Amino acid sequence: MTNKPKSKILVSACLYGHCCKYDGTNNLLRDKTFQILKNTGRLIPVCPEELGGLSTPRVPSEIKEGRVYNKEGDDVTAQFELGAEKALEIARKNGVRVAIMKQGSPSCGCKRIYDGTFTGTKITGEGITVRKLIENGIPVFDETEANLAKLLADGDPHNHHH
Ligand code: SF4
Repeated sequence: MTNKPKSKILVSACLYGHCCKYDGTNNLLRDKTFQILKNTGRLIPVCPEELGGLSTPRVPSEIKEGRVYNKEGDDVTAQFELGAEKALEIARKNGVRVAIMKQGSPSCGCKRIYDGTFTGTKITGEGITVRKLIENGIPVFDETEANLAKLLADGDPHNHHH
């Protein structure tokens, strides 16, 4: 009868506090639950766009008709897909069961993304990495849902041994 360590949570690195946003800043999340998770070593920060080889700062990108373009019109789909693969690999290596990702991002958004016109217009949709995570059985929450993510990560439905 052992107490299994609680599972790790994959998070957008900009929420964790890394300055990996396209403009070189972060989206540090001060939510109390998130900070507790961070301080107890439960969070695995990833920036899929940096993992995909894009530099910081970088030209911002949006998804249009299934592909990703930056504001200068370059097709950066390959970098976004590589970043998604690497994020999934890191999630698996760390036994991650749930993720908390930044809403609105073409990589990390789980409910809303920009519509591809670079006019600040949001539509229903998910980022490239979020889709990859969900397809591989890792549910994704946004920065307003850290409590829900923690509940799921703390539960241990696979441990029925006494
Ligand atoms: Fe944050 Fe994700 Fe954008 Fe990286 S790709 S800056 S982690 S929202």
